[in-house]
Amino acid sequence: MFRNFKLVPNIIFGRGCFSQMDEIIDKQRNNKDSWVVFVVDDVFKGNTMEKRIPVHGNDMLLFVNVEDEPKTNYVDDLTLKVKAFLPFLPSAVIGIGGGSTMDLAKAVSLMLTNEGSSTLYQGWDLIKHPAVYHMAVPTLSGTGAEVSRTAVLTGPEKKLGLNSDYTVFDQVVLDPELTKDVPRDQHFYTGMDCYIHCIESLEGTYLNEFSKAYGEKSLDLCREVFLGNHPDSADKLMMASFFGGMSIAYSQVGACHALSYGLSYVLGTHHGIGCCITFDYLDEFYPDGVKEFRTMMEKCGIELPRGLVKTLDDEKIEKMITTALGLAPLWENCLGKDWQTIMTRDKAKSLFLKM
Ligand code: NAD
Ligand code: ZN
Repeated sequence: MFRNFKLVPNIIFGRGCFSQMDEIIDKQRNNKDSWVVFVVDDVFKGNTMEKRIPVHGNDMLLFVNVEDEPKTNYVDDLTLKVKAFLPFLPSAVIGIGGGSTMDLAKAVSLMLTNEGSSTLYQGWDLIKHPAVYHMAVPTLSGTGAEVSRTAVLTGPEKKLGLNSDYTVFDQVVLDPELTKDVPRDQHFYTGMDCYIHCIESLEGTYLNEFSKAYGEKSLDLCREVFLGNHPDSADKLMMASFFGGMSIAYSQVGACHALSYGLSYVLGTHHGIGCCITFDYLDEFYPDGVKEFRTMMEKCGIELPRGLVKTLDDEKIEKMITTALGLAPLWENCLGKDWQTIMTRDKAKSLFLKM
């Protein structure tokens, strides 16, 4: 079976295009009672970005905290806050921030029209009703969350996204100027998320010309950003993120993402840094990619934390292994159909113990 891939229908790109957002949102305001929810990373609270958000009349400015990556109970609380204004649903939900904020915006827009807790929809194609119109405004480049059909959530039982065609944004606003204040380390970690998406897609057994076309271009852009010295690297990384997302959407990620999910489920390690910590020990699977990653790390002066796992008790390590090995398609993409004979629990444990 071939995947019938749902694309974001509208994209605007360019420095300063954030200013056109008001005009774009206005098309969703169908009557005088229409209102919009802005889901905004609270890092922007009180600064110039907050003043630029085109809030009108009854619109809601919902600041979100992403110190912890999105959890199902946080999504449920945010949804209740918006539902306090029912019977009228908002006409649009706009997410302004990095991958975490974009995923929160996707999840809230879905949960406004689908009954019950978001935990019920962690999985594939469980969402029953279309979401409220939703828009992404990335302020940090790399995750590809702006283009993907998932909103990654950690729930009481699992870390798993709301994967559905309804999850895909209706509009994406790509303004590279918005990323100018991202801290240096974060820029590297989230940028490497994109680099690793490309390596895992291009080195995977699921590779096809669709994924290859996007993955190769994204990889070139990552190299220009992290090995070169370009004045317009913010523009390049924003497009690399988008193309990297397109590449994995039609293939899959691999060993690094599977293991980093285990790390993050047990230790709460954030996605970008978790992928970097993991990738550094995967020479065996991605020799050229890991070598180049280390060169990028050195050029950017990044030191990764070490020794996170060996002091943990066995129960936690076992939970990490179970989480990582539960992601069968990622392993199949990396190692082929017989992946279970290669990536045994012992093998996964030996990799975790190095981290
Ligand atoms: P993030 O959104 O968690 O943000 C990281 C940090 O950067 C936060 O402190 C945030 O406040 C700050 N930040 C964001 N923009 C900033 C700016 N312009 N200036 C200053 N600070 C800024 O980081 P991320 O790496 O973009 O996203 C990670 C999340 O994305 C994880 O929750 C992960 O699960 C998810 N993810 C989702 C997908 C998907 O397809 N849906 C793919 C990959 C990752
Ligand atoms: Zn990723």
